[in-house]
Amino acid sequence: MSDTDLVIIGGGISGASLLYTVAKFIDVDDVTLIEKEREIAAINSARTNNSQTLHFGDIETNYTLEKAEEVKEGAELLAGYLEGSDPDREMHSKRSKMVLGVGDEEVAKLEERYRENGFGDLFPKLREIGREEIAELEPKVVEGRDPDTELKALQTPDGYVVDYGAVARSFVDAAREEEGVSVHLGTAVTGVDDRGDGFRVETDDGAFDADAVVVAAGSHSLQFAKEMGYGEGMSLLPVAGSFFLADDLLNGKVYTLQMKKLPFAAVHGDADVHDGSVTRFGPTAKLVPALERGHLSTVSDFVDVFGFNPESVLSYVNILSDRILFPYVVRNLVYDLPAVGKRAFLPNVQKVVPSVDVDDIDRAKGYGGVRPQIVDTENKALDMGEAKIVEDGILFNITPSPGASTALKNAMRDVETVLGFFDEDDYEFDEAAFRDATIENFPRLDGETEADGDEGEAAEPAADDEEVAAEADD
Ligand SMILES: Cc1cc2nc3c(=O)[nH]c(=O)nc-3n(C[C@H](O)[C@H](O)[C@H](O)COP(=O)(O)OP(=O)(O)OC[C@H]3O[C@@H](n4cnc5c(N)ncnc54)[C@H](O)[C@@H]3O)c2cc1C
Repeated sequence: MSDTDLVIIGGGISGASLLYTVAKFIDVDDVTLIEKEREIAAINSARTNNSQTLHFGDIETNYTLEKAEEVKEGAELLAGYLEGSDPDREMHSKRSKMVLGVGDEEVAKLEERYRENGFGDLFPKLREIGREEIAELEPKVVEGRDPDTELKALQTPDGYVVDYGAVARSFVDAAREEEGVSVHLGTAVTGVDDRGDGFRVETDDGAFDADAVVVAAGSHSLQFAKEMGYGEGMSLLPVAGSFFLADDLLNGKVYTLQMKKLPFAAVHGDADVHDGSVTRFGPTAKLVPALERGHLSTVSDFVDVFGFNPESVLSYVNILSDRILFPYVVRNLVYDLPAVGKRAFLPNVQKVVPSVDVDDIDRAKGYGGVRPQIVDTENKALDMGEAKIVEDGILFNITPSPGASTALKNAMRDVETVLGFFDEDDYEFDEAAFRDATIENFPRLDGETEADGDEGEAAEPAADDEEVAAEADD
């Protein structure tokens, strides 16, 4: 039996961010991270399993201005950490990033977003560029495209492509330099028992007694919450995402406009974080009855969170009977089929690179993860983005996209909650030092300050229900 101040369950980017923030910037005596896999960030935070995008909210056309403001600070914290600690770019690359509008209607939408809805003010580095400049940055995006079709992009140099697995490992390494930090890999938590004056965390390798617990177990966080009697009114819709690979088609990231009312990102193309000659397209969005990709044992975990009660079943029926979502879900089932899958997926790629042929793309084997989209079973609706359940002494983080981008901001928030869990007042979060190691290193334009964009100069977001409807992204 080990005694510790805080146990963090899960060693993905969320758990690792919190471990780093607690170990480096609070003077707690002991903090313990427990991860069931033999390595840090083996599930959704692994390099191959997500889209490697640091979401700022600048090119994600499904974000409202409010959501973009929220995500922006999180992205700047992580980008600042990368700028400060990864000068050799071993964990990230920095390339061009754009959202592409094709045809009059899409171009008008981008212009409105940039000029009238406040995104141009919120993101001073974001620029409107036309066909010629797009061709200079991304020749293949223009090659073979009808010259009469209007083309415009919102482009920024802040295209951080991130190996979130490597970042998570760097957080854990940095935390381990401090005293009182222990990390247990290959150790599965089997249960958490609330003992009134603390928690007993049972694992397949012994138990830990802790004053406070943070569950950062991705899709499994809701399962832990439900086992302890929390998370009522919530279920999960697990959505697997796969990728297709091609050779050297793009220099940076090219997003397309978000499809109406869809909670999942439109397909985008980008160069891999460590190998710019590999272009990835995706992710797809396939519903699966499992919490982790390729781990059959997590089918029964899904059954636990689904619950098979009338509220869950009716919520699924309500969500999936949507006339936009249903055909989209069916199409996405096809993309994963051998042979026909890539032919069916091809039009998505051609939207970004028109000259691509079916022989140019291949399904990326072993890539992809599962997004735990949150279902609100009271309102029978899909909730966008992440969820947090806070109880006495314990909190649970459920983290679909953009959970990797916002991991440090989330950790900063969780630290405040965790400090509230401890009896003593003598623990303090050194926020200034935390910001020095992170957001203070984020490069800004001359005269731009951290608070720019948050000061209300930006116009109100359009009350456009297409935009408000969908805020998740990959
Ligand atoms: C296809 C796809 C594309 C995405 N693209 C992006 C993107 O471009 N940008 C972005 O910001 N986000 C993206 N996301 C979301 C992002 O990957 C996740 O939000 C993020 O990785 C979540 O990190 P996490 O640490 O919370 O969860 P995970 O990385 O899933 O880590 C949870 C950890 O908990 C461990 N665990 C679970 N159960 C137990 C147990 N019983 N005992 C001990 N350990 C346990 C797991 O082994 C795992 O290591 C994408 C997701 C998918 C699936």
